[in-house]
Amino acid sequence: MKIVVCVKHVPDIQSERMIGDDGRVMRDGGDGTLNELDENAVEAALVLAETHGGAVVVLTAGPADAVDAVRRGLQMGADEAVHVLDDALAGSDVFGTAAVLAAAIRVIEQEGPVDLVVTGMAALDGLTSMLPAALAADLGLPQLTLASSIEAEVGPNGARVTVRRELDHATEVLSAATPALLSVTDQANEPRYPNFKGIMAARKKAVTTLTLADLGIDPATVGTSGSRTRVLSATARPARENRVLIIDNGDAGRILAAYLVDNKLV
Ligand SMILES: Cc1cc2nc3c(=O)[nH]c(=O)nc-3n(C[C@H](O)[C@H](O)[C@H](O)COP(=O)(O)OP(=O)(O)OC[C@H]3O[C@@H](n4cnc5c(N)ncnc54)[C@H](O)[C@@H]3O)c2cc1C
Repeated sequence: MKIVVCVKHVPDIQSERMIGDDGRVMRDGGDGTLNELDENAVEAALVLAETHGGAVVVLTAGPADAVDAVRRGLQMGADEAVHVLDDALAGSDVFGTAAVLAAAIRVIEQEGPVDLVVTGMAALDGLTSMLPAALAADLGLPQLTLASSIEAEVGPNGARVTVRRELDHATEVLSAATPALLSVTDQANEPRYPNFKGIMAARKKAVTTLTLADLGIDPATVGTSGSRTRVLSATARPARENRVLIIDNGDAGRILAAYLVDNKLV
């Protein structure tokens, strides 16, 4: 089974988000990290490959720093990594990003068919959860999104993947023959932490860098110029006012309780 996992490099959610003059998130702060929810996608792919045999390729589209995201995937145990890196990508909306990832998957397929494409449930910066559906549409694949558990059966005629999706008042069970696209939730598994062996092994694994020219994509169709959506405005969150800071000199609990009672919060 050949599995491609799409991983995104995102600004660290613990750090203050900066918005540029164009209303877009500034992504060159140097505090980027692998999107935490994509660790669940990598884990799901690794478990499937370990159970049924096969290889895992981690794929990202993003600026130079984004290589850290695929390197983290390699440390977790992925076999190969691909980074789509091109200045013309800056400003791509979901349609451009999906088109680029789909073209990269077609390139990966030149070395053998891809059975599964796996994504996280959302990128913690954009948080639209639109990319998986757009990518499945571009690749012409069935989409099994927001999977909280995944099972695969591999037979002589190919594989079949079955997932569970937890809705508010029901659980859906969806199934599709491969090739297919899955997005997995943070309920699907507990991502492994890279061990020393994995970190050392990852150092020897090469990351393949692809440009838009390698993908046969016209730069005018992606990036800011190719985006079908525009950010009209974005405003930084106003500073919090009327903050009450209680310094604990041994009586913080009493002061906090009094504050809650006085303000009718309990
Ligand atoms: C006008 C406009 C300009 C933008 N400019 C930029 C920009 O300059 N730089 C930028 O980074 N973003 C930019 N964005 C945001 C970018 O389009 C989205 O990040 C992208 O479409 C994915 O959407 P999302 O982040 O909501 O991901 P979701 O749909 O929430 O992500 C779901 C999953 O898709 C996968 N995924 C998402 N993005 C990638 C990726 N790049 N590589 C691999 N896997 C991925 C991950 O597995 C992730 O868990 C822009 C958006 C707009 C509307």
